[in-house]
Amino acid sequence: MNRTVDQQRNRRRTFAIISHPDAGKTTLTEKLLLFGGSIEIAGAVRGRKSQRAATSDWMELEKQRGISVSSTVLTFEFDDCLVNLLDTPGHHDFSEDTYRTLMAADAAVMVVDQAKGVEAQTEKLFRVCAMRGIPVMTFVNKVDRPGLAPLEVIDEIETKFGIEVVPQNWPVGGGQDFRGIVDLQQDMVHLYDEISSSRRVASRQVPFSDFTPENSEDLNVAAGVVTSTRDDVDLIRSAGTHFDQEQFMAGKQSPIFFGSALTNIGVERFLRGFLKLCPVPRDRTSNIGEISASREGFAGFVFKIQANLDPRHRDRVAFVRVCAGRFERDMEATVARSGKKLRLPRALRIFGQERETMDEAYPGDIIGLVNPGEFLLGDTIFQGEPFHYEALPQFSPEFFAVLNCTDTSRRKQFDRGLSQLVEEGAIQIFHDPRSTVRELILAAVGELQFDVVRFRLESEYNTQTSLSWRSFKLTRWIEGLNDEVTTLKLPYGAKRVRDQFGHDAVLLQTEWDANFVERENPKLRFTSMRMLG
Ligand code: GDP
Repeated sequence: MNRTVDQQRNRRRTFAIISHPDAGKTTLTEKLLLFGGSIEIAGAVRGRKSQRAATSDWMELEKQRGISVSSTVLTFEFDDCLVNLLDTPGHHDFSEDTYRTLMAADAAVMVVDQAKGVEAQTEKLFRVCAMRGIPVMTFVNKVDRPGLAPLEVIDEIETKFGIEVVPQNWPVGGGQDFRGIVDLQQDMVHLYDEISSSRRVASRQVPFSDFTPENSEDLNVAAGVVTSTRDDVDLIRSAGTHFDQEQFMAGKQSPIFFGSALTNIGVERFLRGFLKLCPVPRDRTSNIGEISASREGFAGFVFKIQANLDPRHRDRVAFVRVCAGRFERDMEATVARSGKKLRLPRALRIFGQERETMDEAYPGDIIGLVNPGEFLLGDTIFQGEPFHYEALPQFSPEFFAVLNCTDTSRRKQFDRGLSQLVEEGAIQIFHDPRSTVRELILAAVGELQFDVVRFRLESEYNTQTSLSWRSFKLTRWIEGLNDEVTTLKLPYGAKRVRDQFGHDAVLLQTEWDANFVERENPKLRFTSMRMLG
């Protein structure tokens, strides 16, 4: 163990926020940055959001791409912690990028709108976290608006995800009657006399034991609100659920905080509570066993590649999550896949058009490496004894379309551009190996991904394309095909294909179809996720 590395590692908290659009992720991010003192960055978060709202126009799309680049990681310090907030970019915050960014996080914060409960995208992202062993904390936002009762929200989360939810605080009233937060750890009530989004309002702190209906006049809270809050708190306490780090890390518990990002209420306490509970960068598994994050030699993996980030630079940046040891400028490290030893003269921290060189980095940090063509998604980079971290997963896409190059004289550029975009993981490609017609089926988790690909083929490779949608909705990769088992029983409308890595798969239209192929082909295994590489 290296002491400096260990100390730096223990300071770091690296997490991502998952949510459905409009639940308040941008607002919460902005507020967390404000509490961390990064006022300028907080302003830029809002700017990004308004740019993101404007869609579709090519120029806007480019801006949007700039945004997704700038927002790879937002770093701030709070209470001696160095916080790396990984941004999960993309339209509606939902794409392959989002999935892979989660792989670089040590924990996730699930933001739920109190009025709406758990929505579709939150659910999907939660399930990815559960599958990959990423512990999830919950922030129930917008308690200043009419919504579900807090117990109803908890019940929904517990039922949907089969986990135990452990309240860390509790709202005093809700909607119009929202008056503050009970901190269950401190046994204190934080009351606000005025709730306003335009400024920070002073709060009063009262011991929970003094928070009684008899005192309601002094407290300036309706007696009914005091009583119902006390009843809820008694109920939670008598249920006796306690936070248990092991259960949390195993994805069986989620600590829950209530608050209102817009009015700041509960945000600072959330940040403090969150930083206490959020795990430090963990040791990660590899083909040779656990690799200690506190070891001396540097190691990390590539979770995102972006080409032609900045037209002035025309370069490719590989974003690396540092998982172990100390990264130092100019050091040499080996790429596990190619066995190639590289000198790493520059590591970048990127925000918008600003690029700042990082001289050193520690477990939990994200660095951007500019080494043209040397890295692929999922690559492990290490010093010392060779190993590779667990592969990055590739998830079943949900949108499918055939892409054609409309100008045959640009075919070469089209192919080159497409293969670069595939390398970046921007899109997946399937083809029918038995067909003589060369038809490429593009597939992605998010719909906007297609606009991005077409836009980039046009602007970076000067190639016009046309797109025609296919009605597939899911993919199952096939394991177990061999010389004896070569035929498949498929439902109507399904298509047997091969992906860009040569793996067999089937494209399907419904979950029912997916069940059908499993049932009718018992000798084969069908998976909705594949490991990259
Ligand atoms: P995102 O799409 O998840 O990033 O959501 P935003 O942060 O942009 O929030 C969506 C909308 O909800 C915006 O109009 C916010 O002002 C509003 N909002 C966010 N947090 C709160 C909150 O705590 N209370 C209320 N009343 N509105 C909120």
